[in-house]
Parts: sequence; C-alpha cells; structure tokens
Amino acid sequence: MEGYKKFQNTACEYFPCHKLENIEDFNCLFCYCPLYMLKEECGGNFTYLESGIKSCMGCTKPHDANSYEHVQEKMKLVLEHAKK
Ligand code: SF4
Repeated sequence: MEGYKKFQNTACEYFPCHKLENIEDFNCLFCYCPLYMLKEECGGNFTYLESGIKSCMGCTKPHDANSYEHVQEKMKLVLEHAKK
C-alpha cells in the first residue's frame, strides 16, 4: 500500500507525455515538475534553449518508477530556496 506515490491518468489526451520503457511505471503525480525552480540542481535531464529557457522535454524523472523518491529527496532543496 503506497498508493499516494503514484497514479495514472490514462484519459489525458497527452498520456503518456514522455516515453518510458515500461508504461506501467508511468507516474502522473508530478505532471508539472515541482523541481523546475531548482535550475541545475533538479537532478533531471534538462537542456537550455537558445532563449535561456530550461527545457524538460528529454526528462522522465518526475514520471519514472523512482519519481516519488526523487522528488521527495529534492524537496529539501526546494524548501531551502523558499526560506527568507
Ligand atoms: S522535469 Fe526533469 S529536468 Fe525538468 S525540472 Fe523536473 S527533474 Fe528537472
């Protein structure tokens, strides 16, 4: 029982929005990645576009089988950034 860690919205018109080897593992819980604001510290597979915008198109970190653990680990950094 760890149902709070994962769900799939297969009714979403974009599902699956990123390619994963095992589609059964796909997690929709972090549809908008909460680590985006961490810039280079998010631990994901990002690139920067010429415009300077961070692109997450090639990243599956918030969707893969270990997504919940990865986000929880990085959430400590998010909280640090949120401090005064
Ligand atoms: S989707 Fe991936 S690259 Fe983008 S912020 Fe989240 S972890 Fe980082």
